[in-house]
Amino acid sequence: MCKEPIGLEALLAYWLGELAGGEEAPIEEHFFACARCSARLEELAALGAAVRAALRGGRVAAMISAPFVEALRRQGLRIREYRVPPGGRADCTLLAGEHAVVGRMQAPLAGVKRLDALKRLEVAGKVTESRVEDVPFDPAAGEVLILPSAAWLRGMPSNTMRVRLVAVEENGERLVGEYTFVHTPG
Ligand SMILES: [Zn+2]
Repeated sequence: MCKEPIGLEALLAYWLGELAGGEEAPIEEHFFACARCSARLEELAALGAAVRAALRGGRVAAMISAPFVEALRRQGLRIREYRVPPGGRADCTLLAGEHAVVGRMQAPLAGVKRLDALKRLEVAGKVTESRVEDVPFDPAAGEVLILPSAAWLRGMPSNTMRVRLVAVEENGERLVGEYTFVHTPG
């Protein structure tokens, strides 16, 4: 057992390479001596690049799976969630001390083979549109999860993100649901 486990924030900062040399050395020594903390570091690393994107930016938003959110929680991350029905809207925020926010878009997905997400972001009257192809989804769960980069979100003023999920079928595209996230800084 570890008497002084490395805290989550330090663990994250270490893994993301954000610590100064002087802060890094004692943590590194701890890992050498402590199987428990080095196992936690390995678990975090196994979650891979998506964690980096979620916490520190890079990609503005990632479409993720529900098991991935649970894996983040098991690492101790505090995650705020909004469940939004088709045609629905969430007034959302991200508070200090929270690591990430996830939008859980409820959608009838039975029979859907490929799903694309059309995103429309409006900030102070300026609109940016983008398309994410072939997003991951679990038809049985009937939902699609979107994880905006927390770092990006913290740097943003109030904004509105609209997501349209479309099923891509042989004879064209079919709208599955439209979701609006009205974000206010925490
Ligand atoms: Zn330890």
